[in-house]
Amino acid sequence: MCGIVGYTGKREAYPILLKGLKRLEYRGYDSSGIALQQDQHLQVYKKKGRVAELEELLLGKGLHAHIGIGHTRWATHGEPSDRNAHPHVSQSGKLAMIHNGIIENYAPIKQELVSKGYQFHSDTDTEVLLNFIEEIQTQNACSLEEALRIALKRVVGAYCILLIASDDPETIIAARKGSPLVIGIGKGEHFLASDASPIIEYTREVVYVNDYEIAIVKPDELILKNLGNEKQTPYITRLDMELSAIEKGGYEHFMLKEIMEQPETVFDGLRGRLLAAEGKIIMSGIEQHLPAFLSAPRIIIVACGTSWHAGLLAEYLIETFARIPVEVEYASEFRYRNPVIHPGDVIIAISQSGETADTLVALESAKAQGAFIFGVVNAVGSSIARLSDAGAYTHAGPEIGVASTKAFTGQVAVLTLMALKIGYAKGTLAEADYLNLLLELEQVPEKIREILSQSAHIQQVANKYKDATDFLFLGRGYNFPIALEGALKLKEISYIHAEGYPAAEMKHGPIALVDENLPVLFVATRDLYYDKVVSNVQEIKARKGKVIAIITKGDTILPEMANDVITIPEAHEAIAPILSVIPLQLLSYYTGLAKGYDVDKPRNLAKSVTVE
Ligand code: GLU
Repeated sequence: MCGIVGYTGKREAYPILLKGLKRLEYRGYDSSGIALQQDQHLQVYKKKGRVAELEELLLGKGLHAHIGIGHTRWATHGEPSDRNAHPHVSQSGKLAMIHNGIIENYAPIKQELVSKGYQFHSDTDTEVLLNFIEEIQTQNACSLEEALRIALKRVVGAYCILLIASDDPETIIAARKGSPLVIGIGKGEHFLASDASPIIEYTREVVYVNDYEIAIVKPDELILKNLGNEKQTPYITRLDMELSAIEKGGYEHFMLKEIMEQPETVFDGLRGRLLAAEGKIIMSGIEQHLPAFLSAPRIIIVACGTSWHAGLLAEYLIETFARIPVEVEYASEFRYRNPVIHPGDVIIAISQSGETADTLVALESAKAQGAFIFGVVNAVGSSIARLSDAGAYTHAGPEIGVASTKAFTGQVAVLTLMALKIGYAKGTLAEADYLNLLLELEQVPEKIREILSQSAHIQQVANKYKDATDFLFLGRGYNFPIALEGALKLKEISYIHAEGYPAAEMKHGPIALVDENLPVLFVATRDLYYDKVVSNVQEIKARKGKVIAIITKGDTILPEMANDVITIPEAHEAIAPILSVIPLQLLSYYTGLAKGYDVDKPRNLAKSVTVE
């Protein structure tokens, strides 16, 4: 996975590419590079490390060109290094290419090329594809576009590529399968990128390129073709997101900005759908397919990482309210273990980016087996959104911080709406309860605001425990997925080893870890399990563990027992998780901050995992 940007037009390309790469850095940041074409000459510059290092390298170089491509990499083939950074240049020196994705059958192709005398200057699969294209063009004496088409038919894997040639001063040729590509349409100019963030300040008219399409992009012309060389009509859409939504908005980090945005983003997810006063939930994706949900023998939720935790919570919600059996699957396991899918099964795919490779492939195979797929996705127009039969966007806006926060609460809001809507339609959720839950849900944004106002206190708690080497997160019922999510957030951002567990399960193992050095965080809001969780707290205290408790406002018992408490407003137990996760996000943010880590770009992680 990586960020890709390209420009062809009248302006200076370099500043556009550089700015675009900075915006896309969340997609990969182990090396970056650009290629510019001027006077029949390709200039390629690349550098290991962040985009800022590339910028420093190029400072004062006076780069002038009106066409160019840029890349920020997240290595899959070959270590992060200058030589493996993109763009790569073909054997003849006439082509330069950037690539997002993986060419799975690169090894035999490379062998074939080596036997023909090709030499390679990197360990990447990308350079193999590039030389393969060149070889086809030489052998067939055909156009670059034709050679690309032939090559792509032989390639297995995922790609978005941008290609420029030294003998063509205005054309960028692009192609995609499995990795995203957006083309911005300007006046006498075009912009290409992995998402709209590098494009938005120049134009709002964009085309989302589809899988197996090739785009031939010149300043005044955009031609889309399929691999069969048939012209496709570009479908132009208008971007309605604001640039401020993708900049830090005055916060020190995107992660903090995104945590703080949650009253608005959850509201956006509920807006137009939740009509509490009228006792209605409007979700056209469900209404149009209501029989599929009502008769579903089973719902399978497929997701990865934080989205998987949202899925686990959805299992509790859907089983409680709609009485449909739910299974929650890791997409990476689901796709390979030949799962049994019955006719009528409904698959819910959850993904922030909508590009998660494992989820995408899992869905493709489920779809081939006839399953109905409902996508819960944040990124509009993304691959998963387009693959789904129906869906509901979470409308959380672009999430730049690598650790997911607002996308998670957006997912939970949408999944809660779904559970309530289906349950009510099915008759398994009584009207009075349904109406009450709608009112509860309506109050969530305001309650999140109340929790966020305690961030100074949460920062103090974080500072107190920042030197712990291990952490345990415990919760029961609806709070169990939140305990898992809290542990994952802390691991991601502060590199402290943390485990999430069902509170009662701790007696079957993790309790052996408890001593005076181990902080144990309980998500212990007032619910069905409250008294039992209090007993679990006592068990930790008896072993001298340090207890931090997320409690409901007004609780007088746990403040007496816990070393530290963080309160959240009172809420129905099914609604409380979307609130109780907020202090855990802040706790991990402030812990990472106190430890001096780059919280927006934690080591080894990338924002959307578009490779296996
Ligand atoms: N597979 C290519 C590489 O390792 C592209 C990875 C990416 O998407 O950044 O260089």
